[in-house]
Amino acid sequence: MPSVLRAADAGVVCEACGGEAPYVFDARGYPMFRCGRCRYTFTVPPREDLATIYDDGYFSGGDDGSAYPDYLAEGALLRKRGARYGRLLNRYTTPGRILDVGAAAGFILQGYLDSGWSGTGVEVNGSMAAHARERLGLDVRTGALESLGFTERFDVVSFIQVAAHFIDPKAALGRAAELTVPGGWWLFETWNSESLAARAFGRNWHAYSPPSAVRALSPHALDAFVAPFGFKPIAYGTPRKVIDARHAKFALSTLSRTSLLARAARALAGLVPDRTRIPYPAVDVFWALYRRR
Ligand SMILES: [Zn+2]
Repeated sequence: MPSVLRAADAGVVCEACGGEAPYVFDARGYPMFRCGRCRYTFTVPPREDLATIYDDGYFSGGDDGSAYPDYLAEGALLRKRGARYGRLLNRYTTPGRILDVGAAAGFILQGYLDSGWSGTGVEVNGSMAAHARERLGLDVRTGALESLGFTERFDVVSFIQVAAHFIDPKAALGRAAELTVPGGWWLFETWNSESLAARAFGRNWHAYSPPSAVRALSPHALDAFVAPFGFKPIAYGTPRKVIDARHAKFALSTLSRTSLLARAARALAGLVPDRTRIPYPAVDVFWALYRRR
């Protein structure tokens, strides 16, 4: 990719926040660039067709670090994950209509339904979408978000483990914005390039897996991506455990008032803004909830 490397020498602009993103390393033969401001790490999107990248091999036995060894076998776990996200949404709004982007075989959507939502999925892989329709009885349509027609607007658009795969994030988000009601919500789950695990593994982090996973986001990068569409951050967390600095300070406040260690920890925590996300070590995924203003 010599032309891309020449562009890097001249300075690539971060498409999320506008910061400078120099070349950092090659991943699977693709040059990766990292924004110095928001740590968004990305490569130039491949020209391959989506249906080629997400062929059946991607969902079964692919050696791609971001692929699934056996997606269908994870159905029960994924359904629970969808239900957890449904309950998360229920803390902020009443259940309505949801559009699940990258719905695969429909398990996450099934979980949303378990928690009171109704909805539709879109999936580029025809076999996965057929599984959702024929085996689970769900409304999952085959195709890309950008090219499918819809006659309705949705209360929530859900992007669970899909943002890393966007070929053109602005086009995908623009289409999602058209399909979201005023005051509607976007829910993301994606790998976190700011996490301790991402930093520890460096170029060997599994999420750097072009041509499928072409971008590793961070909460800061995602905030910057959705802002032009009128979406403001409401909440962040990790799929396993939500913790922010305010939560951490509260936990510390319950410790002994006289313990020197607790006092030192409280003093240090006091320097961290409340909205700072504190990921647990080894957790390299985050979720983020946005609302349209
Ligand atoms: Zn940036």
